[in-house]
Amino acid sequence: MRACLFCCLVLLPGLLQADCGKGRVTLQVLGSGGPELGDGRASSSYLIWLDGKARVLVDTGAGASRGFEMAGAKVEDLEAILLTHLHVDHSVDLPSFIKAAFFSPRSNDLPVFGPGGNALMPSTSEFVQLLMGSGGAFRYLGNYLDRTRAAAFHLHVRDIDLADKAIQTRRLNDRLSFSAVPVDHGPVAAVAWRVDILGCAIAFSGDTSNKGGALTRLSAAADILVAHNAIPETATGAARNLHMPPSEIGKVAAAAKVGKLILSHRMRRTLGGEALTANGIRRYYSGPVLFANDLDKFPL
Ligand SMILES: [Zn+2]
Repeated sequence: MRACLFCCLVLLPGLLQADCGKGRVTLQVLGSGGPELGDGRASSSYLIWLDGKARVLVDTGAGASRGFEMAGAKVEDLEAILLTHLHVDHSVDLPSFIKAAFFSPRSNDLPVFGPGGNALMPSTSEFVQLLMGSGGAFRYLGNYLDRTRAAAFHLHVRDIDLADKAIQTRRLNDRLSFSAVPVDHGPVAAVAWRVDILGCAIAFSGDTSNKGGALTRLSAAADILVAHNAIPETATGAARNLHMPPSEIGKVAAAAKVGKLILSHRMRRTLGGEALTANGIRRYYSGPVLFANDLDKFPL
């Protein structure tokens, strides 16, 4: 069933950027920080607007639901939630959106896509069951998972196959498709996402070291690449095993020929070091480099 939902995509470098825009699509950063307290930011979350409606939510880290509210978004407008991985700073607000939808006019089912599991992490479908299924801490929300039980809408949770290293694409409708590829984030099950919407392409690195180069393939000719600036160039050890230093971000952006680079997942170890980060990126990438703050909007 999963294989039917996500099929291989042939990306077409050079075609997307020319056709994108017309003011209908906007990327908004709901959370530009990492998992720590003291960075003054919500954790990872991004919202894609189309024609003034919030259509796609990428990651739901702590503070995402508050950012969503401050952005003026409506939960009934969402067409899908995409999760890059299930670390707390990317996923913990998910039940908040489901409960909030109860108090909205939402009546359409809500797709939730995220990585399959591995030895360390549950799959996205297991994660949601562990939260909201029978025996879960929020089992009072279980009717949203069980289509045999009455609810205004149900979640459709799908796992990205981590064994399939190809780019896996699902076309949701005429204007929207999602592509995922498994990426290296140390021992953590993780994917990067690409959203193609009305001829615009926005790629989201999630957290990754980019070992193996999967993010570079996924980001080909994207109008925007949202990359995570979680570590400085000097990082070593576990942090370097999990994340990309600025030079790697620059290499990805250059090789993929992205139109614009937005740096997020800013942490205390990178905040204040923007000049150094930019220098590391500039060694390889000459396009626009922007540092994201919460609620920033980037029209396409
Ligand atoms: Zn993170």
